[in-house]
Amino acid sequence: MQEGAHSAKAGIRNRIVAAFLVGLVSFAAASLGIGWTREAGNIASLWPPNAILLAVLLTRPPEERLQNTLAFAAAVILANLSFGDSLPIGVGLTLANIAEIMTAYWLTRHYGFHAFRLDGLKWWGGILLICAVVAPGAGATIGAGVIHAGFGAPYLLVWTSWWAADAMGMVIFFPLAAVLLKESLQLRGAGGKLAEILLVAALSGGIVWFLFGQYDLYSLLLLFPVLLWISIRMRLAGAAAAVALCGIALTWLTVSGLGPIGQIPDMSITQKVQDLHYVLLTFSLPTIVIAVVLERNHGLVQATAESERRFRHLYNESPVMLHSIGPDGRLVSVSQYWLDKMGYTRDEVIGRRSSEFLDEESQKRAAEEVMPRFFREGSIRDVEYRFIKKNGEQIDTLMSAIQDRSAADGQSRSLAVIVDITDRKIAERKLAATIEELERSNRDLEQFAFLASHDLQEPLRMVKSFTELLRDDYSAELDDKAREYIYFAHDGATRMSQMVQDLLYYSRVTQEGQLDGAVDIGVAVNAAVAELTSAIDETNAMITYSDLPTLPGSSPQITSLFQNIIGNAIKYKNDKDPIVSISAEREGRFWHITVTDNGIGIDPRHHDRIFGLFKRLHQRDDFSGTGIGLAICRKVVERHGGEIWVESELGNGAKFHLTLPAELEESPGDDG
Ligand code: ADP
Repeated sequence: MQEGAHSAKAGIRNRIVAAFLVGLVSFAAASLGIGWTREAGNIASLWPPNAILLAVLLTRPPEERLQNTLAFAAAVILANLSFGDSLPIGVGLTLANIAEIMTAYWLTRHYGFHAFRLDGLKWWGGILLICAVVAPGAGATIGAGVIHAGFGAPYLLVWTSWWAADAMGMVIFFPLAAVLLKESLQLRGAGGKLAEILLVAALSGGIVWFLFGQYDLYSLLLLFPVLLWISIRMRLAGAAAAVALCGIALTWLTVSGLGPIGQIPDMSITQKVQDLHYVLLTFSLPTIVIAVVLERNHGLVQATAESERRFRHLYNESPVMLHSIGPDGRLVSVSQYWLDKMGYTRDEVIGRRSSEFLDEESQKRAAEEVMPRFFREGSIRDVEYRFIKKNGEQIDTLMSAIQDRSAADGQSRSLAVIVDITDRKIAERKLAATIEELERSNRDLEQFAFLASHDLQEPLRMVKSFTELLRDDYSAELDDKAREYIYFAHDGATRMSQMVQDLLYYSRVTQEGQLDGAVDIGVAVNAAVAELTSAIDETNAMITYSDLPTLPGSSPQITSLFQNIIGNAIKYKNDKDPIVSISAEREGRFWHITVTDNGIGIDPRHHDRIFGLFKRLHQRDDFSGTGIGLAICRKVVERHGGEIWVESELGNGAKFHLTLPAELEESPGDDG
């Protein structure tokens, strides 16, 4: 709140100061203009104030328009009064000037010249045409009327001299007013050259004052080199200041009857003012044009230099390996990062062939394959190259390059970006080695499981058959306790034998069963159901399915898959008769098969666990089993390139989902 009030106060103060300054400068400018007119026997020679108000209106914020115009009006009326004019005449002349400035202001806005483009010739052409040629016509039409009515002066003569003086005022003073008010160009380029500006101002003033004072029109020619010098050294700011200064000096001399024009004998003052106007126009317009062109060139040169500097900086300092190759295949430039990475100095690489820094294999590939493609297509992307550092170390890289045809000489260069992927390559190699190692140890484990379970079969069979013999042949001679022990021993051996068989099957899933057979899922389910007949009869289970697909895989393995899942669906029943339904749906590249039962369901906490080896959720007394069935299922599904998961809640049945590829898939690593 306080800050707002504070800044509002500061704003008002600024506006008052601005209006006061506008008034002050306008008063001085108007006094000069009226003074010269009086000196020249009421023939207007040069009228500076309008250029000032127009530049103020075009640069200051719109809300200051009214106050600045009023300050200007007050100043011009005051100046008129101070020269002895009556108030009505002063007001009338001031209104004529304001009408002129408003015409100029409106036209510049209407034709889009209000936005300052001080370094644009087109802008200067437009604004001077409007303000120096057209608008003074409006002022002259009213002003000549006021003077005619007030003093009885001939209308046409006054109109012409009003028009010419105002037009000259615009040409001579608007550039300086515009440059000073437009911050970005305010004495730009003149910084630190104060001594030179003073020297130049003195010199141009001196030339005008002394030489023209000697009545020598030719000496005006000396003005041109000085103005040119100013334009080159100080561009628009200096040129505009010099033009204004010389304009003031020349006019002053002429109307005072001095100088090259003022001293011409037997010449009417009207004629002298006309000659003055020719001279003013001759040196001011070319000077402004040259200064604007120089200003513009300077801007372009600076912009080019800046973009060149930025490009250099980016090229040299970005943390990327960059190089450019000339049409002869030799390195023209490399980034600092390139040198740092490769361990060379710039002198050691510039002019050498880029291929010299590649290893033999990359060199060969570049010559035979990559470069022909590059010239054909104009670019390459992510080509793997191996660079050799100065110390002999290798860097694996990805290179992308484009051809860049120079607009200057038409020659083609290539610009390349090189990314170091050595770390990635090392990681890839490590990963590949780890995978290989894992696969090997997995194979070893499977081999071990296979051998162990295979070799365990025989001793287990012996334990089983001898406990059976013991039970059958010696039952009568043993007491109840001994018979119970024998029962436990036999039961344990039977279970162990089942586990060993399952384990054996599990260990053989990867090796056995061709995957390229066509498996009719309907047939596989039928076969599984046939294996489960007694369990189905016992539990009064109902198995339904329809429209099952045929897909690639191993028939025996898919059959065992369904045997396990349907078997579980029947085994993990509650008090209702089991109902199992199987359905399939095509999903993109896969068949999605679901097996739904109405059994005891599975707590979601265990959904992942149950697919692990030997993972069971129940006691042997509640449900028999080895805990290998679903592990086998997962191995079979994954080997076929699919997935298996379960969806279930405790007490609400279970839904097993399997996805299996619909078409034979290329095994990974075999990319044809
Ligand atoms: P198991 O030989 O014990 O049946 P599995 O690997 O086939 O071994 O199953 C692992 C566990 O998953 C089972 O012990 C059981 O708790 C649970 N399970 C499997 N299928 C079902 C099902 N359809 N309903 C409820 N629980 C199931």
